[in-house]
Amino acid sequence: MEKVEEFSIISVMEKTTEDVPTAGQNSIRTLCGRPVFLYPIMGGKERSMSHNIKEIRGFTGEYQYLSNFYPCKVLHGDLVFRSAEAAFQAAKSMSQDERIRFCAMTSSEAKREGQRVAIRPDWDQVKAGIIRDILLSKFEHNADLWLKLLGTGDAILVEDNAWHDNFWGNCICERCRETPGQNMLGKLLMKIRDTYKYYWRS
Ligand SMILES: [Zn+2]
Repeated sequence: MEKVEEFSIISVMEKTTEDVPTAGQNSIRTLCGRPVFLYPIMGGKERSMSHNIKEIRGFTGEYQYLSNFYPCKVLHGDLVFRSAEAAFQAAKSMSQDERIRFCAMTSSEAKREGQRVAIRPDWDQVKAGIIRDILLSKFEHNADLWLKLLGTGDAILVEDNAWHDNFWGNCICERCRETPGQNMLGKLLMKIRDTYKYYWRS
């Protein structure tokens, strides 16, 4: 089993003087255009990167944090939302006033409201890029989730579901069984994990 040191990730925008690591311990990298600090936590526990799970199907239970519905602070644009889902639903609207309303909503409320807003005309073209930015923000600003995501190792991530979503995930109902889901959410999560893994190990 490969043991690696535990690292903390702090985006420059959040850092305080106390967070700045001493010379020689830190490295500043750019992650998708954004500068980030990577440095070993002093006295941090050893963590194992090895993982026996090869596939994670369905983002429930201990893997609920992979779901966009998982409650956590998510910064997008200049607004802070209560989940990735709320940030995503808000992004459908071109109106800042409208988007601000989503900041107070739970994931379910935001999903419902997202069907009532005037959707930006280029939504289908931009939505994959928007969710990627939102997911990057989610994991950048929630170090506990970032470590959990890394802990999935090389497992394939698929949001199996029963609500016929074959774009972000893969519906397993009788009717959809013959249609393999595109698994866009899982693919993005794996891509983010692999990017972070590179920075973590380097
Ligand atoms: Zn279905």
